[in-house]
Amino acid sequence: MPYRNMGKSTVLNCACVIALACGMELFTAGTSRAQDGEARPPAKGKISRVPARPLDWPLPPNVDKSYDAIDGHHLHAYVEQLAAISEKYRDAGNQWWGRIPGMPSGTESQNWIKEKFKEIGVPTETVTIPDPQDLPKSWEISVSTNGKTLQLESSDPIIDFPNFAPSAQGDEELDTVWVGLGQPADYIGKDVRGKAVFIYSIPTPSDLIQSAMWMGSVGRAQKAGAKAVIIDIAIPGNMHYVSHMEGGRVRDIKIPMFTIGDDDGHAAEELIATANAAGVKTHLRWDVQHYPDLKEDIVLGKLPGTSDENIVMIAHVDGYFDGAIDDGAGTAAMLGTAEYFAKLPKEKRRRTMYFISLPDHHGGDRGGTWMHEHFTSIFAKTAVLANSEHVAVTNPVWDRPWGSNVEPTLVQTNSSGPSWWGVYGSDRLAHIVVDDYATFGVPTQIAGAGSAGQLARLQFDAPSFYLHNKGVYYHCDEDTPDKVPESALRNAVQAFAKIFNDVNKLDLSDLQPPPSSRPGAVPPSQSSRPGKGSEQGQ
Ligand SMILES: [Zn+2]
Repeated sequence: MPYRNMGKSTVLNCACVIALACGMELFTAGTSRAQDGEARPPAKGKISRVPARPLDWPLPPNVDKSYDAIDGHHLHAYVEQLAAISEKYRDAGNQWWGRIPGMPSGTESQNWIKEKFKEIGVPTETVTIPDPQDLPKSWEISVSTNGKTLQLESSDPIIDFPNFAPSAQGDEELDTVWVGLGQPADYIGKDVRGKAVFIYSIPTPSDLIQSAMWMGSVGRAQKAGAKAVIIDIAIPGNMHYVSHMEGGRVRDIKIPMFTIGDDDGHAAEELIATANAAGVKTHLRWDVQHYPDLKEDIVLGKLPGTSDENIVMIAHVDGYFDGAIDDGAGTAAMLGTAEYFAKLPKEKRRRTMYFISLPDHHGGDRGGTWMHEHFTSIFAKTAVLANSEHVAVTNPVWDRPWGSNVEPTLVQTNSSGPSWWGVYGSDRLAHIVVDDYATFGVPTQIAGAGSAGQLARLQFDAPSFYLHNKGVYYHCDEDTPDKVPESALRNAVQAFAKIFNDVNKLDLSDLQPPPSSRPGAVPPSQSSRPGKGSEQGQ
């Protein structure tokens, strides 16, 4: 933001003088963030600028050499091609962009996947289902005071905005309040009635799970009479987000919610902090359109096996922005796994394999519902059902030059991020999954947990497992192909392929969960919550 940079450099200049004179830490009026950077004593020497090398997981000894043919570079091209479909849709002038179910980018994605299945020799069937949707078409937010107006260019409506907004169209000019984290004490002495409320939200580690959500800050704003909420997602930079908010916990929220990037948030906060008695006005405009006639394709790739038993793998193809991680990586991994098994002669496939590209995880998950309703007989003879979702993700850290007091930025590392995972099935199945993730260095949390994501509606229809990452780039416009490490993509596909090979050594009865784990035997509080896909985490 030019405005912010201007303000920042002014602060920096005078701050440096004070710092040099006093050798003290800096907290200056007019800014809430310490600015320093050049106040460090000069280093005594220089460290090398040779960058760290990418990490590749070597094929472990005693593992079948067929897994070595899985090529991360080749798989990464799929991620890039999916991102290009998103960008084409953005460049056509769509403010709400990505691979959007039912819209041209959604249709193009499903045509793309049919083409890829054809190239790798997997026959497909297509099921077309209706997909009526309400989507934000356009919006803008600005803040102004003393004749100065600041456009918050990074603003975006929250996920499921049409369900939260009180009306499809809105044009509001509101007084403005900044409530910090929006905890109860932050509201003391503040009248937010009829106003636009800005909340600073700490990502933990992304906009999927963030402090405004788990602190109940938005519900508190609504209860106190706020008319709109703008959430500053405190990730360095000025990213666009399609954020979750209090989904599933506070279902009665009826208030327009937008997110902004942190640079815009900082600029708005400075404006509010320095405004005169007239205060700051926030202008919000939004336009939601209803699309009743949209349709979408479920693409089912099918490799016949030698029995009437099945293995099923799913990945959703839709995504916000480039959607390289979410779910370009998951889709690429599913294609890579299909490619591995397509090379085997049919006699070597014990079971029929379904590779299913679902079109609308973010649009109501009608694909998942369709499978739940139409796959009953297939699931009855399914050895395992797998969800490949955001399976290869870079793992950045927050960092700043050591010894300085500047605001940290996101710094890339050569490690990949650990994922959620979970198994529904026998202990033998669980051991296969954990062993094969470990064999190929697929990082996960220790305990099986988190959201099953696209698998949520199907998780208990057959023995199943998922791999699902929710790192810092979740649902943001920096979810770009460079955030998907080729090596991590390769390792995920190696693990999926070996899991399916190992599962094929067992009979269906060896893979089934014990009766005590089956639906009905588990109290509802411990089983997966029903609800909309987008509310369960993606
Ligand atoms: Zn996803």
